[in-house]
Amino acid sequence: MSHHASLKKEKNCNAPSSPVPQRGLSHLTSLLSSYNPYSKEEALTKSYFLRCLEKYEMDILTRNRDAHITVSSIVLNVSFDKMLMVYHNIYDSLSWTGGHADGDMDFLGVALKETREETGVTTLSCPYPFILSLDTLPVKAHCKNGKKVDAHVHLNITYALLADEREKICPNPDENSSVCWVDISQLEDVCKEKGMLPLYQKLIKRAKDNMTCYPAQRKDVLSKIVSPLLSWYDRHARILPWREKNDPYEIWISEIMLQQTRVETVKGYFDRFISALDSPARLAQADDDLLLKLWEGLGYYNRVKNLKKAAAIMVSDYGGNLPRSYDALLRLPGIGPYTAGAVCSIAYGMKTPAVDGNVLRVLSRLSADPSDILHPAVRKRAEKNLAAVYPDDRCADFTQALMELGALVCVPNGAPECPNCPLFSLCTAGKEKSASLYPVKKSKKARKKENLTVFLLRSHGKLALSRRGEKGVLSGQWELPNTIGHLSDNQALSYVKDLELRPSSILKRFEAKHIFTHIEWNMLVYEITAERQSPSFTWVSDSELYHTVALPTAFKKLLR
Ligand code: SF4
Repeated sequence: MSHHASLKKEKNCNAPSSPVPQRGLSHLTSLLSSYNPYSKEEALTKSYFLRCLEKYEMDILTRNRDAHITVSSIVLNVSFDKMLMVYHNIYDSLSWTGGHADGDMDFLGVALKETREETGVTTLSCPYPFILSLDTLPVKAHCKNGKKVDAHVHLNITYALLADEREKICPNPDENSSVCWVDISQLEDVCKEKGMLPLYQKLIKRAKDNMTCYPAQRKDVLSKIVSPLLSWYDRHARILPWREKNDPYEIWISEIMLQQTRVETVKGYFDRFISALDSPARLAQADDDLLLKLWEGLGYYNRVKNLKKAAAIMVSDYGGNLPRSYDALLRLPGIGPYTAGAVCSIAYGMKTPAVDGNVLRVLSRLSADPSDILHPAVRKRAEKNLAAVYPDDRCADFTQALMELGALVCVPNGAPECPNCPLFSLCTAGKEKSASLYPVKKSKKARKKENLTVFLLRSHGKLALSRRGEKGVLSGQWELPNTIGHLSDNQALSYVKDLELRPSSILKRFEAKHIFTHIEWNMLVYEITAERQSPSFTWVSDSELYHTVALPTAFKKLLR
């Protein structure tokens, strides 16, 4: 709304003032009195509001008085860099959303309703459900729908809202002629209304600060989730192989495998791994090829290399066992706060939360927290707040219940199953139907793209492989011969000739892609038969390839 455009709705404007319900008046007084001004100027504005309230009592909510209450919203996207605005032709400017209170004392409700009506946005969230600002906005005398409207003052109450900028927006022809997300850096160009730009700029900053900080203070919600979450877990926990014994070694192996990998995939790997290597001592002595074979297809091979290094330290320093302290676990290769927290809480019953993306998703939705979950401080804050509410006797279950809820109910993609969620009555995003807004992840650095030419070189029924260097992606593992860049057919043939392979012709040429966390390989693949097997490669049969050699998925998928 713009204070100017205020009179867009005439309903109630002639409503008689009803006898003052004292309860309503005292509620209104305490609502306005509870506002904490940010400056001396705002303190004066607040007293003006209270003086008007004293003078007009509940009539302040109607348009009968020359000073009456309106409600506006600063609606931001989750990155806080865009504001949702509506365009009013008569003022030739974009402005915020809002409208008259028109007898309604639920001001936040008015803010939400007006914004929904004016923009078509339905997933609105209010991480800071308090008055953001009180402002007096003078309105000049004007004509509206052929009627003269005298000059008056809007006693404007502002709220801060969040909306999903991916949602469809549409103007409401009764209210405005267009709706759009405006980049905050462009506000100056689009905001033509006199005096409004500095107000918007001030309130955007205030909205951002409050919406970022306030949810972190809602620790009380966390203490209330423990009991319903544990009862739900008692009924819904999945039977998983590593949950049978709560053995520290098995918990550790499963948690490392589960990083970036789905539970269903991990089950088979876990059973094979534990059957082959059932203790840190066996793991520390395992042959690298066996380890890579056991891990083949899980990806992120540094994880298994670190498992072996950590197992060696367990043997040399901890009598072949996992250390029993969180800090000692953290010092081991490949073990971060999440894994240390999981092992200590699940295997040792300590109050050490295991906070990963699943848990952060649940927490940020619970309190509609727009903090960037990729920021380390947000994870730390979550660990601290959760540790404070861990139940004395069920630490293992509490850790696993949170993970389970994130995996089964409060799921990442698609709609979380809020109606079936044991935390629904406590969850702000669930109740506001705004779960799709959370968690907020600020855009990561773009993944680096690399073009590769990869060779499927066959000779006398065998395939050429080589070892990758000790640095970089897939370090030390088997690979198909390859080179940087995309080679033409002729270039590919002469490249192979230079390897002293006497190529005949190109059998096949195709493209494939493999995506790692930070890099994307765009591979041009040539299948070429060679007359001789050059000693610069290791030549393997199909049987060796499938049973003994651990070829990373990025290459193995090219053989299919
Ligand atoms: Fe997640 Fe919905 Fe449950 Fe909230 S109510 S925790 S958003 S599933």
